[in-house]
Formats: sequence, C-alpha cells, structure tokens
Amino acid sequence: MTERILGPVHPTSAAKSPLRPLFLGAVAFAPDSLLGDWQARNASRTLPHCVEQLDAAGALDNLRRVTGEVDADRRNMWFADSDVYKTLEAAAWQLGRDPGDAELRAFLDTTAALVAKAQEDDGYLNSYFSVDKPDLKWQELHWSHELYCAGHLVQAAVAAARAGVGAQLVTVARRFADLIVERFATVDDVDGHPEIETALVELYRVTGHRPYLDLATRFLALRGRGLLNGERFGPRYLQDHVPVREAGEVAGHVVRQLYLLAGVVDVAVETRDEELLEAARRLWADAFGAKTYLTGAQGSRHRDEAFGDPYELPPDRAYGETCAAIASFQWNWRMLLATGEGKYADEMERALYNAIAGSTALDGTHFFYANPLHLRTGHDGSHEDAPSQRLPWYSCACCPPNLARLVASLSGYVATTDPGGLQVHLYAAGTIQTTVDGVDVRVETRTPYPWDGRVELTVTTRAPLMLSLRVPGWAEGALIDGVPAEVRDGYAEVRRDWTSGTTVTLELPMPARVVRPHPRIDAVRGCVAVTRGPLVYCLEQADLPDGVVLEDVRIDPAAQFSDAPLPDVPVALTTRGRVEVPASDELYGAGAGGPGEPVELTAVPYFLWGNREAGPMRVWIPVAAE
Ligand SMILES: [Zn+2]
Repeated sequence: MTERILGPVHPTSAAKSPLRPLFLGAVAFAPDSLLGDWQARNASRTLPHCVEQLDAAGALDNLRRVTGEVDADRRNMWFADSDVYKTLEAAAWQLGRDPGDAELRAFLDTTAALVAKAQEDDGYLNSYFSVDKPDLKWQELHWSHELYCAGHLVQAAVAAARAGVGAQLVTVARRFADLIVERFATVDDVDGHPEIETALVELYRVTGHRPYLDLATRFLALRGRGLLNGERFGPRYLQDHVPVREAGEVAGHVVRQLYLLAGVVDVAVETRDEELLEAARRLWADAFGAKTYLTGAQGSRHRDEAFGDPYELPPDRAYGETCAAIASFQWNWRMLLATGEGKYADEMERALYNAIAGSTALDGTHFFYANPLHLRTGHDGSHEDAPSQRLPWYSCACCPPNLARLVASLSGYVATTDPGGLQVHLYAAGTIQTTVDGVDVRVETRTPYPWDGRVELTVTTRAPLMLSLRVPGWAEGALIDGVPAEVRDGYAEVRRDWTSGTTVTLELPMPARVVRPHPRIDAVRGCVAVTRGPLVYCLEQADLPDGVVLEDVRIDPAAQFSDAPLPDVPVALTTRGRVEVPASDELYGAGAGGPGEPVELTAVPYFLWGNREAGPMRVWIPVAAE
C-alpha cells in the first residue's frame, strides 16, 4: 500500500509539467546513507521532539482553550497553530512510509480530533482569533496569519489524504477551505503571509475541486495591488508592492516571497499559464544571481527577515532563516518539475546539504533559526534568534516542524519520470522502484555520496528506458562508465539494454575546491571559501591552536588540501594558512601585522559546525598576504 502514496507536489494529469514525481514509497534510502540516516533520525528524534514541544510550549493548549479543555492564558505566537499543522504534516508523511509507528499514529489521531473540536460551526479555525480576537476575524490580514495557518492545515490534510491517514483532518481542512472559498470569492483581500496559495492548489490536486485552484489563482492576481496595510515594514515586505507578473526582483520577507513563488509555479502549471511561469523564472534569476549565499541560505536582513540589495551578502550578518532554505528547496522542486532544467536541482542540493542540514544538530533535537556563514568571536545574537548554539525550540518555532515535514518526505524529491525516461536528481545509496510507461523499473544505487562522487546504479527493466543522471554544476570532468559525460541542461542521458540488470557508473570528481566570490560582494572581497562536491566547508575555533583568534587566520589559496577524518566528520580537509595578528589594538590605522606564523588549518563541512563544541566559525576565509 505504501508504495502507491503520492508525495508533496503532485501536478494533475492536465498540468503542464514535463517531469512527474514518483510515489513517496518508490525511493528507499539505505540506512547508512547520509539521507537515510537523516530521515531515520528525523523519525526517531526530531519528530517526537516536535510533538513534545507542541505541548511544552503551549501550542496544543491554545487549541484546548478553544474547546474549553484548558482555562489559562494563551502562550506562544498568535500563529502557533501552524506549528501544530506542520508537525501533523510531518507525522502524515512519516506514517505514509512507516504505518507501524503507533505512538505517532496516536498523536496524529488525537491532535486531529482536537483540531476538529476547535473548529467553529461555520468551518472557521484559528485558536487566537476564536478566543482572543473574535471581532477581528479576517479584518487584519496583513498581520493575522489566518490564511497562513489555514494553508498549513491544508498541507497537513493533503499529506494525510495522500498517505491514507487521518481522514478527520481532511474533513476539517476541507470545511475550512470551503469557508475560505466562500468568503474570498468576492472580497478583494489577500493574506500578509503567503502559503494558502500553494496549499489550495495541492488540495485541488487531491480533491479535483476546481474552486480551490480558482481561489489560489485569484489570490495571486490580487497580490501586489496594495491591498495590505504595510504599516510596519511597507508593502515590499509583504510582496504587495507589485503584481507578481510584473515583478523583476525578489523582495521583502524571504519566506513569504518563496512560499508565494511556490504557489506561483503551482498555479502556472495547473492553469498552463506561461506568463506566470516566466515571472517565476525571472525572479529565480534575480534570487540565485545576486541574493543567495554559498550555502543556499537567503536573506541578509535581520530586521525584517528580508532579502537585501543585490550582492548584499555579509557572512556574519547573514540571516538565512531555516524556513527560507526549506522554502527555496520546495520552490526549486516545483521549477524542476515545470521545466526539467538541472539548475533547479543544483539549488535544491546546495540548500539541502548546507543551509538545511546545518540547521539541525546531530542529536536531531537542537536547531538554528538563523544560519550565518560567520559566527564572530564574542558573538551575541540571543536577542535576534541568532544564538551561538542550536537551541531545542524557539518562541517563534516555525523552523523545527518545517524541517520535520521536509525530511519525512525527502524521498519524494529524489527522482522523476517522463515518457520513456527516469531522471535521478539527488544521489543516495538505496533503491528506486517505479514504473515508466507502465513498465516496472528498479534502480539499485550504491554510493557514499556526498562524501565521494562515485555513483553506481544498477537498472533493471524491460522498457527501452532513457536514464537521465544529474551532473551538478560543480562537477568538472564527470564520467559515465569511464567516458566523459555529455551534459545537456544539467543531465547526462544514458541508454542501455537494461533487461538483465545493467550497471552504470557515474563519477563526479570531488576535489577540494577554492571558490572566489563575485567581485561585487564587498563583504567577502579578499576571501575564499572551500567546497568539496556539494558540501561547503568552514573553519571552526575548535580546530585552531589555543590562543589563535579565528578572525586572525588567513588561508593560502594555492596550497594543497588533504583529507583527514575527524570524529563524526567523514571527510575533513587540512591545508596551510597563517595567523596574522593585528599590529595594534587601534581600531583604525593599526594595519595588518605582517605575514604571520604558519598554521595548519582544518576545514569541516558547514552542516556539521557547532556539533563538537560551540564557538566561532567562518566559511569565507581571508587570503594570506603574499
Ligand atoms: Zn522558520
């Protein structure tokens, strides 16, 4: 049964989507692969932790206030219902893959029952407005997050419907969605925080009920017409300054912008609206051409969690919210399905292995909210959700349950099909079992990826299958069965006789690479970063000799790198550098302290930073003076 479950984002057969996602159960990661281990940890640690924290932080009690089971003050953010819904979504995907988890099933059932009980007779559902501000329902959409919370409820219900768990949740979400359709069919209004748009399209995909798609289309058409009160940060913050079809650049609050763009692509493919898809392409070019960090993080402005100007990418003041990287992954997946172009999968991979992976500790229960590329010596970010260490939870807890739902459904993002073909986008040891044109295809993948770029795929099928293997933009000199790969739009196409099980070997060379920033990124001019395959590396204070300040370290970009394993770090890199102590303590006019003492540098994958001990870290490293 589980292998027939659809995953996140499943365009209808009428949609214009060249690539089709596989069933969620079509991909199984090997337990010892990086992605398999992550998914297992998500199930055993992160998801139970989220469930626990919903209770501890009061998010469930807020709903119990509506039902009368709890008589106490409200706790947590006014939009904390969304934390409950995201956790429900994660639980639904997880149960879809592992229906035997009785504890998780009990959480899903009891929470769905609570949510159903908290729903008003007309279908309205929001614990804050129902109890604390009943007179303001739908009145202040610029900050209320009512449709944002509704969107996450709908996403949870879509996951429950596809996974075949929690029919009650689907009933609740549809009742609310029907009320929203009724309310907003004639009233010109949009929510300050997008999310409902993509959710309604997905609900349409599950139910076939056209009014959901029509309302999503309508919300997109109404946005950018100044309908929202931009009182605090202005209309750009809310993407209400220009209609999306006319927008030339990403702007404002990053998560809002990216969730909006997910909805834009969903509507574009379902309504075959080329102009809308073109707008998404244009905004993608701006976001990934001038406003994305090397780790895939986005958003340099802390004040309004927003995109900065082009090339405004300071590593120490990177905001890079975890939810933004997840939203970027989700948007890129939609762009990939809609176009078949590998550059979108490249950005999924960049965000996944760096910004997203780095936001969770190896214990699976501590998280970053902001994901800077440089944590300074003496850093204090406790007042702006940018702590020096991952924390178990946040007062605004949007990120941890967002991670849980993404990782629980990660197998849905690995491969796709099109007529006559199977495309592999993300590499992990494990199996893919699907059909192409109705004929069974089985792929067994053996690879230590991302630690090594050798990927062996044994394909068995009676179909004359075209196997398309993504060759990432960073991979120079890729080989297929020892022959230089011919790459088109990011993919190498392989055709063989697969009938008796044929093995194809893809080799993606992964030397340590020195990356130089675009010259207009002033904040890191004179610095380089180190990458290896899809992984960005960083220096940590923990690996420096006693007394050496991280900010005084320089790297010799011409030096060789050697691999050196560390505990919990399968591939660390060592190279040469120097320590340049400032000539004096004078803030201005002191100058550099000369070439300095040689030092051996150890770089570790960015996503693993802060796991051995808390302390300063940097991705961009100043180059040593000649
Ligand atoms: Zn977040």
